Amino acid sequence: MLGAGIVGLAVADELARRGHRVTVVDPSPGGGASYAAAGMLSPSAEVWYGEPDVLRLGTESLALWPGFAARLGVPLRDGGTLLVGVDGGDRQRVERQVELLHRLGSRVEPLDARGVRELEPTLARTGGAAYLPDERSVEPRRVVHALLDRVRVLPEPPDHACDVTVVATGASLPAPYDHLVRGVRGEILRLRATDPPRRTVRGWVRGEPVYLVPRPGGEVVVGATSEEHDEPPVVTAGGVLRLLAAARELWPGLDRAQLLEAVARDRPGTADNLPLIGPSGRDDGVVLAAGHYRHGVLLAPLTARLVADHLETGRVDPAVDPRRPAVQPRPTP
Ligand SMILES: Cc1cc2nc3c(=O)[nH]c(=O)nc-3n(C[C@H](O)[C@H](O)[C@H](O)COP(=O)(O)OP(=O)(O)OC[C@H]3O[C@@H](n4cnc5c(N)ncnc54)[C@H](O)[C@@H]3O)c2cc1C
Repeated sequence: MLGAGIVGLAVADELARRGHRVTVVDPSPGGGASYAAAGMLSPSAEVWYGEPDVLRLGTESLALWPGFAARLGVPLRDGGTLLVGVDGGDRQRVERQVELLHRLGSRVEPLDARGVRELEPTLARTGGAAYLPDERSVEPRRVVHALLDRVRVLPEPPDHACDVTVVATGASLPAPYDHLVRGVRGEILRLRATDPPRRTVRGWVRGEPVYLVPRPGGEVVVGATSEEHDEPPVVTAGGVLRLLAAARELWPGLDRAQLLEAVARDRPGTADNLPLIGPSGRDDGVVLAAGHYRHGVLLAPLTARLVADHLETGRVDPAVDPRRPAVQPRPTP
């Protein structure tokens, strides 16, 4: 197994549970995108038009989280997600999301200003809103630490040969698979406040997407920027400024919050925003578990199950098959 982020570690743990011998190699375990992730387990709030598989896979994986978290001894936060919009365009985005989720059969409740105040008294007065009661969140670093207690990770490949290599190296796939994933920089902030929101709040503030994810001890995660680039991911002054400005419009208490940390990491993006889980298509001994883009935390337990099932039965979910045409480079004319 190459890669000890949340995905690689979850896969290694599942394989070990099923009695397979696993060796994990990573020079910097837990130091990739999993270190920055907000930890929203939020399949509905992430659904965009034309991406029903994200919802299907995310919903399946969300159902696995209670068992996964209990096994690791990591708490899950309930309370759902509040979607809010500030101006007319933002409200339309919320309405479109509600319409789409209704159509796809997800539980979502439109809310008026009073409903928002009852759920989240510390939020500023916003326009259109909706409540997604089934969504949850988790602290990804706690999950990674719990997995690292169960899975031994080596800094370098061992001498012995193995039957299969699972490549779970997030946004930096080794050749010849490197063209399948690109880095999409995400910057995120951690704050501590005396009046944090009670649940995850996702909003649009004049077109700028922003979220607030509360954690124990008054911590609040504010995220996240999204930028295609070829440089190492760094925190930029502009990114921090945009996040703080947007978050403050939703939650005025931010002014009094202590800024604890700003982090940037690359999300592992694919051409169709779905992960690569299954045979590499190039080498019989290589299976991919990468390219989880915005959903790697959410999809970790499902990915673990899909990889283990594939190794034991040969089964592959076509939506995430790394050989699917949607993620292959277009032939040059
Ligand atoms: C700002 C931000 C917020 C996010 N918020 C959420 C969220 O709320 N919910 C959600 O579900 N997802 C979220 N994501 C996405 C999520 O973080 C990723 O999809 C997920 O962490 C991917 O996990 P991974 O294990 O595949 O990759 P990573 O965590 O990047 O791990 C890859 C590992 O591979 C190792 N590695 C690299 N190359 C090699 C090599 N050649 N040999 C061995 N090891 C190697 C690295 O050291 C690293 O430890 C967020 C991402 C960002 C950036």
